[in-house]
Amino acid sequence: MTDEHIQPQASRNFETLAIHAGQEADPLTGAVVPPIYQVSTYKQDGVGGLRGGYEYSRSANPTRTALEENLAALEGGRRGLAFASGLAAEDCLLRTLLVPGDHVVIPSDAYGGTFRLFAKVLERWGVEWSVADSADPSSVRDALRPRTKVIWVETPTNPLLGITDIAAVAEIARAAGARLVVDNTFASPYLQQPLALGADVVVHSTTKYMGGHSDVVGGALITSDPGLGEELAYHQNAMGAVAGPFDAWLVLRGAKTLAVRMDRHCANASRVAELLVSHPKVTQVYYPGLPEHPGHEVAAKQMRAFGGMVSFRVAGGEEAAVEVCNRARLFTLGESLGGVESLIEHPGRMTHASTAGSALEVPADLVRLSVGIEAVDDLLADLSQALG
Ligand SMILES: *Cc1c(COP(=O)(O)O)cnc(C)c1O
Repeated sequence: MTDEHIQPQASRNFETLAIHAGQEADPLTGAVVPPIYQVSTYKQDGVGGLRGGYEYSRSANPTRTALEENLAALEGGRRGLAFASGLAAEDCLLRTLLVPGDHVVIPSDAYGGTFRLFAKVLERWGVEWSVADSADPSSVRDALRPRTKVIWVETPTNPLLGITDIAAVAEIARAAGARLVVDNTFASPYLQQPLALGADVVVHSTTKYMGGHSDVVGGALITSDPGLGEELAYHQNAMGAVAGPFDAWLVLRGAKTLAVRMDRHCANASRVAELLVSHPKVTQVYYPGLPEHPGHEVAAKQMRAFGGMVSFRVAGGEEAAVEVCNRARLFTLGESLGGVESLIEHPGRMTHASTAGSALEVPADLVRLSVGIEAVDDLLADLSQALG
């Protein structure tokens, strides 16, 4: 018996689970970190005699299992599943839950790739969707149809940092017989735990804060419904877009420092938001930590802190916004988010270009920051010079 068995895992605190859940010392060698099981198949002790249930690495792999158990613990769920990307996780989830003719409500400022998955891929397979302002639960209720099977929520949203009251929308979903899916990528499980607020499934792009070092692309699904967990695992294996062992290992390593990284991301982002609010070249700042943000109170209720993402609009329009992105030096011009290094981007021309002309189009003068964990004074100095 190791001391892991003395205290039930569920009673442990987040920071402890992040380091230990799913990761007992390797029984063979005592290695304190789960090995990268870079293997496709497993020797059977006689036909069907599997050791530990492993037969083929699409179905299950020990490194991935460690990550999946860790993710389930961090979100307070029963089942975690790790995928090759966030979009692979979303695709698996939607093809598990939906058949042609079903309807989905999606938020008006969803992640561009999520929107594209609905508008350009699933629509061809007969899935119907409509857009709601999920910051306003009555807008979600108005968008329901008799065949609404999924309500999709992202909070905070990308790139406008809109906030959805998860518990309020969970009630609407339950009354409608629909599943509530929450994309928790921006908050991470350290800041927000949607399952406890009534969500049925949590989605992550583990590429972002979970991995945290801009060195891996991955995705995850977590649910507390064991039946749904089984169905998702069935489809994960049937469709095959699983996380590879090394990618799973990188996300698992990132998870260990999630809490300390998020604390610094949040502290730095709130200083950045303060600077931007008082800057003459900035016409609007989107950060849920600001008291004037329309979702501030809901965010304060359902989040531990307000996250590391800040968006703002620049006086002078699109060209001025692009100029700010081009002038930044310490903030690296690039897509993605959630890594230790600060990033800057122009959503209209970069991450959200595919939403042009749709209800999800973003303002042309918008700049999005992923505030990293560098020394905050260096970040503030770089933004000041980029704004000119
Ligand atoms: C990046 C992202 C995704 C997609 O994840 P990938 O890992 O890039 O496939 C989904 N949702 C949000 C909020 C994201 O930021």
